[in-house]
Amino acid sequence: METALILLIATVVALAAAWSRERLLRRADAERNRQEVAEQRSRREKELREQAQRTAALFDRMVEGLVVVDGGGRIRLANRAAQSLFGFEGQASGKSVLEATRNHEVASVVARLEKELEVLGHELRIDSMDAPRFLQVNALALRDGSGANDGAILVFHDLTRLRQLEGVRQEFVANVSHELRTPLSLIKSAAETLLDGAKDDPAALARFLQIIDKHANRLALLIDDLLLLSTLDSGGLRLDRQPLALKSTVQDAIDDLQPRAHARDVTLVNRVPASLVALADNDRIRQVVSNLVDNAIKYGRVSGTTTVDGSQLADGRIELSVSDDGPGIPKDAQLRIFERFYRVDKARSREQGGTGLGLAIVKHVIQAHGGEVRIESEPGSGARFVLNLPSGSASSAQ
Ligand code: ADP
Repeated sequence: METALILLIATVVALAAAWSRERLLRRADAERNRQEVAEQRSRREKELREQAQRTAALFDRMVEGLVVVDGGGRIRLANRAAQSLFGFEGQASGKSVLEATRNHEVASVVARLEKELEVLGHELRIDSMDAPRFLQVNALALRDGSGANDGAILVFHDLTRLRQLEGVRQEFVANVSHELRTPLSLIKSAAETLLDGAKDDPAALARFLQIIDKHANRLALLIDDLLLLSTLDSGGLRLDRQPLALKSTVQDAIDDLQPRAHARDVTLVNRVPASLVALADNDRIRQVVSNLVDNAIKYGRVSGTTTVDGSQLADGRIELSVSDDGPGIPKDAQLRIFERFYRVDKARSREQGGTGLGLAIVKHVIQAHGGEVRIESEPGSGARFVLNLPSGSASSAQ
């Protein structure tokens, strides 16, 4: 009896111990599971946070403006490019599209997306404070699982620069056509006059042939300049850069222009030091100097003086300048003087046989050498064109 009781107690104690161990193990398991779930959750949250940061950084690095709106037409997200395109002040999210962009066309694109799935290639204009901007918008409607409206994504491409370049190209083509047509129609009418009988009068024959010759030369000059500019534009100009003693290059250009200077009683002075050496293409620099000195003769004072100076700057670069004592260039024109076909006085330029491309060529040739050109002029007291070039002397070559 006693033994049976002891056995029973031992069994109960063993069962209790097993049950308690089991409970402890289960509790430990549950604790482990809880920790794992918590770790997984925090890992997932960290991943989502990082993903959101990566997406935001990606959106902000996009060149295109990106706007995401919700089903109620309110902004959920606008990247940095969109903020600068529309000049959003402060936080755009939560505002309606019209409120944030202040543009009815953008709002109407969002409204269209309630019926259409996408709007592609819609162009619009924003009238900002300084100059109008031209944008192209591509937009996509978002639908939830049940097909209900869940907002939209709008991507804006800035076409302003493209439009400006198109304008420049159109203006250039119009200018070229005009410049070609003028001498061509003079040649044509001289030829017609000769054919109509003027050829039988020796004096008229000589006069009209001279007109034809003069304007044919002008056409040839214009075409040469246009071809050179197009080579410069395409980066196709091959420069033969050598250490160049500038004094003699300047002198060659001056010698060529002596007859023209003589015709206007202009004195040409070469004050470039013999020691000055640039790293440059002889033929191109001669052409640059020739264009500048030719302009100084054409637009400077009759019986005036044109001087070419040169020096080495503190940073080792070479500076060359062409100065005249003529009427100079008005301040507003100085900003545009290097543009193609820009002339201060159109009639005077044509009368002097100018193509309107001389200074544009100067600027491009000097830039191709890694240099810059600028104008200094006080109206009434002459013009000074200053350019710089890399040094070609071994001691200060850059
Ligand atoms: P162009 O063939 O008409 O001379 P350029 O490009 O060489 O063309 O010069 C553009 C314009 O700049 C000229 O038409 C002229 O009005 C002005 N210009 C250039 N050089 C001078 C100068 N030294 N003094 C005054 N005006 C100048």
